[in-house]
Amino acid sequence: MANSPFLLNVSDLLGNEASSRSVTVAAPVDWRVEMIEVINDPPLEADLVLHPVSGGVAVTGRARFTTKDTCYRCLRETLTDRDTSIGALFDASNDDDETYPLEGYEIDVSQMLRDEVLLSLPMIEDCGDDCPGVVSSAQTDLNTDLSGDDGESRSPFAVLKGLLEPEDRTE
Ligand SMILES: [Zn+2]
Repeated sequence: MANSPFLLNVSDLLGNEASSRSVTVAAPVDWRVEMIEVINDPPLEADLVLHPVSGGVAVTGRARFTTKDTCYRCLRETLTDRDTSIGALFDASNDDDETYPLEGYEIDVSQMLRDEVLLSLPMIEDCGDDCPGVVSSAQTDLNTDLSGDDGESRSPFAVLKGLLEPEDRTE
């Protein structure tokens, strides 16, 4: 992994007269969460700014990537261009879960990018207003499970009223 595009040498940021520096990294990734998958073509691209901070390096910027989303209703797959902001701290201390490791003069931003990208994704996604699953699920809701019930008792407010009424009559 020595040649990973996500492995950055930051020796110039650790000196006393260091100044911030921009860097763009791009590489295919195969990260996914639930039914949303980051596709490897086009590759993930991140515009990062590396800032010298006490004891380490702060990284800010944005990552752009494309996901293949599987609709949770009809299982249709669609591609979505996404981007997310990046903000993370790398330092040499290993005792802090909030930061990523600075190892010697290098930081590996792949774990940080993976965390930020996956956190930015919705857990589930539907394919849009014309999703065929929406129609069938709405019809199911209207036409079933209604037997022997009148309209008022199904209303959430009716449930609430039922819960509140005993309180009203305690006096
Ligand atoms: Zn759908």
